[in-house]
Formats: sequence, structure tokens, C-alpha cells
Amino acid sequence: MIPGAFDYHRPATIEDAVGLLAKLGEEASILAGGHSLIPLMKTRLASPEHLVDLSGIGTLKGITVEGDDIIIGAMTTQFELITSDTLSRHIPIIAETSRLIADPQIRYKGTFGGNVANGDPGNDMPALMMCLGASYAVSGPDGSRDIAARDFYQGAYYTLLEPGEILTAVRIPIPPPGHGYAYEKLKRKVGDYATAAAAVVLTMAGNTCASVSIGLTNVSETPLWASDAAELLIGTSLDKSSVDAAVAAAEAITNPASDMRGPAEYRTKMAGVMLRRAVERAQSRARA
Ligand code: FAD
Repeated sequence: MIPGAFDYHRPATIEDAVGLLAKLGEEASILAGGHSLIPLMKTRLASPEHLVDLSGIGTLKGITVEGDDIIIGAMTTQFELITSDTLSRHIPIIAETSRLIADPQIRYKGTFGGNVANGDPGNDMPALMMCLGASYAVSGPDGSRDIAARDFYQGAYYTLLEPGEILTAVRIPIPPPGHGYAYEKLKRKVGDYATAAAAVVLTMAGNTCASVSIGLTNVSETPLWASDAAELLIGTSLDKSSVDAAVAAAEAITNPASDMRGPAEYRTKMAGVMLRRAVERAQSRARA
């Protein structure tokens, strides 16, 4: 299928992009890698009259360490997340998750910023960003602000981004050395969105879980941060009964749709299975 007609703009700076979006108003859409937006345009579910392509803005790309945080520019591709030495040293779960997104061709073009700004509950990065306690830097006509990933997602395709605002970068606190991590994703085939997925980052003190954070993908209208489930694991040895209780608490906050990936009850149970596997693998990777 062929998208409707549109005008194409390629600003060179964030300021120019913000100015263009303010001038063009509601008829304009931001274009990043295009791997969520263009399919919608081809089926005419989206028909923007203007596309503002961010790919000419060099400052939106790159991965840097700033104190105890890592900053990832919005236009950094999913492929670049996988090949980054900085990320593999400090936050390896980002590469692990990125490898499970779509297929290599999509990851060469699809961007990190597009994945988190899109608001599709099927995207894998949002739940991970909630798990990691990330915050999103955005710029718009009223200036710049930061939004916590845990507050950002309001509903399917509905986020706290205001019209005309651009997500410019994501700030992620580096988890402690020796942390354990795992992203477990059930999908029907390579390249598919998750039937259910779970992100876990934890630290152990001897045999005791000292801290843990849990994110869930594609089992509600928004990505989920499962804080009650995590609380049930802290201070335990991650023994079976503690994990059973955490799994039950995580399943209780899911509200998936019944769709071609399975009935809602199945997807809820698969969220529990993914969480159980992620806790087990994260524990096996943690160094006390
Ligand atoms: P675009 O498609 O260009 O933009 C997506 C939306 O975000 C648009 O509304 C756009 O206006 C907005 N946007 C983009 N960048 C910004 C910004 N910086 N600031 C504000 N708004 C912005 N994703 C997964 O996570 N997991 C999968 O398993 C998966 N499988 C896929 C399978 C297929 C066949 C396809 C086609 C895509 C799949 N995707 C999957 C989606 C893919 O990861 C997209 O690349 C990603 O969702 C969006 O990134 P993008 O750079 O392509 O954004």
C-alpha cells in the first residue's frame, strides 16, 4: 500500500525541528526510523501532511556516560544499542532487549527514541526503561523538561508528550556493579512483538535479594512497572514461595487484550512465566 501525499522536512538542529513543528501544527508528525509510523501511513491509519525527519540532527545521536548515568540520544538506532561497548559494560540488559526487537533490518533503522516515544504497549524498550528508572529529556515550544519513564505512559499510543515536543535523549542510572539482569520475551516467531515479556534487574547481598526492579511488556494498555511484585522479593533468597508470590502480584496488575497472540488469560500466565524465568536468570548472573 502507498501512503498519502506529504511534505518532507529535514531540520539540522533541535531548535529548527521544534520551530517547524510549532509552525506546522497538528498536521505534522515526527519521523525517526519510520518502522512504526510508515506502516501506519501505508494503511492510512496515519495521514500526516508533513513529516519532520530528525535524521539530520547529529546531536540526537550517541551514547555517553555522564557521572552515574548513561545518556542515549533519541536517534541512536537499535543496532547501535547492541554494538555499544559502553552499554555492554554498564547496562547489558539494553543490548539483550534490543536483540529481541523485530529483525536486523528493522534494528538498523529503528531508533531508541522512536521505540520509547511511540507509546505502543508492544514496544520492548518502554518497560525496560521503567525497570531501570530512566527519565526522558524532551524539548518543545515551551522549553525543555524531564519526564520519568514510570510516569510517561498513559494509555495505548497516549503519553505525556505534548504536541510539538521532541524526545531528545534518555538518561539511565547505571545499575550497581555485579547486578543481575534478564529480559525474557515470549514471541510466536522471530520478528514478532511480545506475547508477554519481563525485564528484571536485581542485586544480591550474599544469598539475599537486596534490590530488584521489574517491568512488563505488552500485557496492558501501557508498559507496567511491577513495584508490588518487586517488594515481595526484597530480603528473600528468591526461594520458590517468594517468587510464586511475586509472580501472582505481577499477574494481578496485567490486563492484556485477547488477540492473535492468544487469549487474555494465557497472556497473563505467560507474563508470570517470563517473570519467573527472568528472576532466575538475573539471579544466576548477579555477583554478590
Ligand atoms: P518512527 O516509526 O519514525 O516513529 C514512531 C512514532 O514515534 C511516531 O509517532 C513518531 O512521530 C514518534 N517519534 C519518533 N521519534 C520521536 C522523538 N524523538 N520524539 C517524539 N516523538 C517521536 N518494536 C519492538 O519494540 N519490538 C518488536 O518486537 C518489534 N517488532 C517489529 C516488527 C516489525 C515487522 C516492524 C515493522 C516493527 C517492529 N517494531 C518492534 C517497531 C520498531 O522497533 C520501530 O522501529 C519502533 O517502534 C519505532 O522507532 P522508529 O525510529 O522506527 O520510529
